[in-house]
Amino acid sequence: MFHSSTVTQDTYFCREFGKRCLLDVQKPEWLNHRVKTSDVFALLQRENRPMTRAQLAASTGLARSTVAARVDTLLRLGLVAPYGDGRSTGGRPPSLLAVNPQARVVLAVDLGATHARAAVADLSGELLAEERADLDIADGPEAVLSWVEDAGRALLRRAGRPLADLAAVGIGLPGPVEHSTGRAINPPIMPGWDRYDVPARIQRAFAVPVLVDNDVNIMALGEQHAQFPEAQDLVFIKVSTGIGAGIIAGGELQRGAQGTAGDVGHIRVGRPSEVVCRCGNVGCLEAVAAGPALARTLREDGIDVDGAAGLVELVRSGDLQAIHAIRQAGRDLGGVLAMIVNFINPSVVVVGGALAAAGEQFVAGIREVVYARSLPLATEHLRIVTSVTGERSGVLGAAAMAIAHALSPEAIEEASLALSS
Ligand SMILES: [Zn+2]
Repeated sequence: MFHSSTVTQDTYFCREFGKRCLLDVQKPEWLNHRVKTSDVFALLQRENRPMTRAQLAASTGLARSTVAARVDTLLRLGLVAPYGDGRSTGGRPPSLLAVNPQARVVLAVDLGATHARAAVADLSGELLAEERADLDIADGPEAVLSWVEDAGRALLRRAGRPLADLAAVGIGLPGPVEHSTGRAINPPIMPGWDRYDVPARIQRAFAVPVLVDNDVNIMALGEQHAQFPEAQDLVFIKVSTGIGAGIIAGGELQRGAQGTAGDVGHIRVGRPSEVVCRCGNVGCLEAVAAGPALARTLREDGIDVDGAAGLVELVRSGDLQAIHAIRQAGRDLGGVLAMIVNFINPSVVVVGGALAAAGEQFVAGIREVVYARSLPLATEHLRIVTSVTGERSGVLGAAAMAIAHALSPEAIEEASLALSS
């Protein structure tokens, strides 16, 4: 192999060549230099089994002394812990090491229009303590985030964990969010929240990183982590008073340039419609297939329903008009989903939100159109299912988002540096 110039991040400055160079990374002394603590942690996490130092050295190609030093850092950080005993090759048994999910905890918060749910989770995403409250997001950020602060402290106490164990906070909001700054941007149902600095407010109480995203994105993450950990391409569609989608493609949540990716509620449905949407356009998916639209349709037929729960109740009781309405909503949704399926080829589509409780009647309408209008190859292994995590999907996803940050290579390297300084 020859010296050759490269701009990739994982190559090192070559002293002979005078540039970032491909050849240098092949040399063992450089390999030992460039493999970081977070790489060793990532390997243990990926392998998802206890390993000895020798196995780690063999898997990484690192010198044993280097592995020992990295492992020592991870042990001191608590992120890795001894696990039973390895198979002995004579003499002292080599000790096994495993990721330690109890090392730290995260605070996960799911804020809806009229409800809030908060939980403390360990680093595996298991919820250790959980709380739910009726809370109006329209009360404004100061009132709502004060509740988050109080609930967070109470939950840490209930989980028996000191404040120092908290690694990060994840929060979902019911509106568009600029993920990079943690601010809601022009949220329609959240007066007083526009561009409010959520992380800064939370950090007054908890001096840790605070990640904020919209509710549908965290629901997608929650369902993926809890039910489909192998799925790299998953679409979560939430149908309640509005309609929105969380899109995971190639294992990554797709937020788009302004954080509005997945905002599918205002795509025009394929059939003629005169219904004017709250956005001012005519025939939006949300205006014909969300909860309020179905309630209106049924009212025109002389049936009064009490919100999404009332509608679901009617469907379950076998009311033909309600079943007809929910089937049609499923078909309208299916038309938009067919486009998404053709476009990004997910392996799983999860239907969540209040209307998902209508179950098979709703999903049957969706399947009918998705399978008819998508390419056979795109639907060959496609699963269209209702959410299993239900009301917990948001809080599970907020935990997953906070954990991913707490265990990111950057966070581990920063913690390692703090240890050695
Ligand atoms: Zn609209």
